[in-house]
Formats: sequence, structure tokens, C-alpha cells
Amino acid sequence: MTTSAATLVSRLRTTFESGRTRDLDWRRAQLSALAAMLRDNEDALLAALADDLGKPRWEAWAGDIAASASEADHLRKHLGGWAKDVSVRVPVAFLPARASITYQPRGVVLVVAPWNYPVYLLATPLAAALAAGNAVVCKPSELAPATSALVTKLATDYLDTDAIAFVEGGVEETTELLQERFDHILYTGNGTVGRIVAEAAARHLTPTTLELGGKCPAIVDKDANLKQAASRIAFAKWSNAGQTCIAVDHVWVHHDVHDELVDRLRTELAQRYGADPRQSADFGRVVNERHTARIKSLLDGGGYDEVAAGGQVDVEAKYVAPTIVTGVKPDAPLMGEEIFGPVLPVLGFDDLDEPLGHINRGDHPLALYVFSRSNADRVLDGTTSGGACVNDTMLQIFPPGLPFGGVGESGYGAYHGKWGFETFSHRRAVYRRPGFFAENALTKAPYTAFKERVARFVY
Ligand code: NAD
Repeated sequence: MTTSAATLVSRLRTTFESGRTRDLDWRRAQLSALAAMLRDNEDALLAALADDLGKPRWEAWAGDIAASASEADHLRKHLGGWAKDVSVRVPVAFLPARASITYQPRGVVLVVAPWNYPVYLLATPLAAALAAGNAVVCKPSELAPATSALVTKLATDYLDTDAIAFVEGGVEETTELLQERFDHILYTGNGTVGRIVAEAAARHLTPTTLELGGKCPAIVDKDANLKQAASRIAFAKWSNAGQTCIAVDHVWVHHDVHDELVDRLRTELAQRYGADPRQSADFGRVVNERHTARIKSLLDGGGYDEVAAGGQVDVEAKYVAPTIVTGVKPDAPLMGEEIFGPVLPVLGFDDLDEPLGHINRGDHPLALYVFSRSNADRVLDGTTSGGACVNDTMLQIFPPGLPFGGVGESGYGAYHGKWGFETFSHRRAVYRRPGFFAENALTKAPYTAFKERVARFVY
């Protein structure tokens, strides 16, 4: 870091204390500038995302650029309404008075982003923090270096650099930043680092939002629409080469429809990526050789009957074929950790209690998907997860009225739309008495028996 973390945070704090970022017009202007930054530089951003992740053009545009710009637009349109004081009813005993909630920006906040959607997972928390009137330090992921360098440069061209700073780098730079006192930290990434962030934040009693991952299951019941289920699972598993926090990690399917689902998944695969997915412009790559080797070792670890499709891995080329593995045992290595790659384990069941029991014995996932005509509510009621979809995948992330966040090992706190505004705001309780009102005799010593009787009556 060229400027020390302490100097940087102190500069942003001076801007915050000047009151500039509280101004609603400033917030709207920064959100417009952020959306413009993304839209004006679409080609350069698409090139950087292709460089870092071999991201197919459509996936990069939809998942990183369009989704981020439209979140910034949504926040800009609504923040005026959200920022208004909210009146609260005052009980008779505390009248005459008015009570209200005032939304205040938290101050100087830190956003630490991962590499898998390196624009979206940086820009959307940034947008939420700006909508709430904060000064913001953004730390892009060093594992997506082309995108990190580009957004950092663009930010200096488009955004108010006295209030919004981008810090590039890896563990060393993040560790230095975490020494500082922030007023909120939103971290997206794995749980091991999530714990490091939470510990560092605790030293300053800084509230945190941890957006983590986990093994998101899909359950396909015997009465499900299998064509639909296969298509929607294929979308969630193989876009961005499976490197999506809410991707389907593995599938539980009723034995009666197991073979048909696997056939349909194979068909989906061929329709989407052709006979050789390696040649397809629409299939991405794994972020680096380390992660490719990790996915290979999960596959090599066995614990399943058959590779029903794919299976090829080229570590140097960071290529893992879209893969379907069947007859997977619940204790197979593939079931031990989040796969975060394009390998789809398929497990059979006879009774829904099997997948439900497995899910409930494990960590709470970030997302859960159920395809069923008759048992969707049984699955939803019998489990918990950050979010869920019935008869679809991943779309729970898009309606701006829905909070996005995990539970248990998949994290805590949430953002998106109003939830992001709430996350980055302090809700201050304000009770206003008219100045002319006489003192409340009941609360004034000496506390007589008469005062107690009256107090018991009015409270
Ligand atoms: P990553 O390696 O890019 O790390 C994330 C950030 O943490 C980076 O900015 C990095 O610099 C920083 N970091 C790494 N090590 C650190 C350390 N020791 N101390 C301080 N900071 C450190 O990303 P990742 O963790 O590999 O991301 C993948 C994980 O993130 C998966 O588990 C995935 O499910 C999860 N994820 C969750 C969401 C969500 O919204 N809930 C979104 C995407 C990814």
C-alpha cells in the first residue's frame, strides 16, 4: 500500500466528518457515477473478467456489470424514501412526545471482495454503503488482478476519491487495513478468512457482515418437472464454471427419477457447450491452478460409482470439464467441502428424510433449492439456509426486496436493496418532548405509595 492504511482511513474520516457524504444529492451523484463507470467501460471490464476467469461475455455482462449497475440505480431511486425518519407510536404513559428512528451513516466502512464475481461483489456492497452515506474503503481480490487494477483505476476517474478509496493487494494489505478502526466491515469470501476479519473487527467492536459460502444442495423430488429441474441446475452449476457462492453444489434426487434426471442433465450439457466444452466460448475456466488441482483431488478421492459426463481436468489450462458424478456416497471427499467448480455430485434417495437429515446434520447452506410439486413446503419448513428457491435456482438473489445473506457457517448479516441501506446505517432512537411540558412527578423521588399505584396503572 503506497499510502499507509492509517493515513488513508484518517483522510476518509475527515471527509466523513465534514458531512459531505451525508448529503442525499452527494449519495445519488456517487451512485450515478458508479453505474456510469460500469456501463461506460463495459468492453474493458469484459476483457478484464475474461483475462481473470475466462468469463464468457454474456455471464460477465449479466452477472457482474448489469447486475451491479442496476443495483446502484435501484438504491439511487429509493434512498430518499429510506433515509426519512420513521415515526413510532408513543404509549400513553410517555406522552406528550414524538418518537422516531433516524437513519445515520455508520462512518468509514470497509468492503473486502472475492474473485469469483469481482465486479459485482465489490460494486454492490459499495453501492449500499454509499446509499447510506458512508465513506468507503474497497479491497478488490488479488486473485482477479486484471479486474482489480481496472476498477481501482476507474474509481479514481469517476468517484469522489476523498470519500471512496480502493486498495489493491492481498493478505498483507488486508491485514494492515484490518488494524484500523472501521465503523462497519462487509467481507465476502471463505469462512476461514471470515473468522480472521471478525476477530480483527472485534478489537474495535466494529459490526461486521460476513457473506460466506457452503455446500448448497438441490433436491429433486419424484414429482418434479425434470426438464425444468435439469435446465435450472445446469445453469446454476456450470455458469462461471461453478464458481458461484449460490451455485448448486450437489443434487439429491429421488431414485424413481434418478436416471431420467441424469440423462436430462447430460442433454443440457451437450446443448449448452457442445461435444467438447473446452472449445465452447460459453464455458469459463477455474480461477487458478491451485483451485483446479483442489477440484481434481476431490474427483480423484473417489467415493462414487460413475463419472456420467465430463471428468477431464487440465490443471495448467485451469480447465475442469462440466462433470456429472453419480452414486456419490454422503461421506465422499466431494461431499466434504464446498466444490466451487463445475463438478456435480448426484446422490439418490428413497425418502425425503435422507436429504433433510443430511442437510440438517451439516452446516447451514447459503442457498437451498427444491424441485417438487407436493413437498416444497416440507423441505423449506424442515431446513434452514440463507435463501431458497422452489423450482428454480439462484434467482433469489435478484428481487431487490429480498435480503441476501447467510446463516450459521454461510455467514451473518445481509444486504441488497433496502437491506443494504439498513446494514450500512445506524438506527438512532430519538424521543422528543415538547420543551414546555412539566416534569414527570412519578419518576421523581421520594417514591410514595400513591406514585407507585399510579405508575402501576399507567404502565
Ligand atoms: P478470496 O481468496 O478472493 O478472498 C476474499 C478476500 O479476502 C480477498 O480480498 C483477499 O485479499 C482477502 N483475504 C484472503 N486471505 C486473507 C487473510 N488471511 N486475511 C485477510 N484478508 C484475506 O476469495 P475466496 O475466499 O476464495 O472466495 C471464495 C469463497 O467465498 C467461497 O467459499 C464462496 O462460497 C464464498 N463466496 C460467498 C459469497 C456470498 O455472497 N456469500 C459470494 C462469493 C463467494
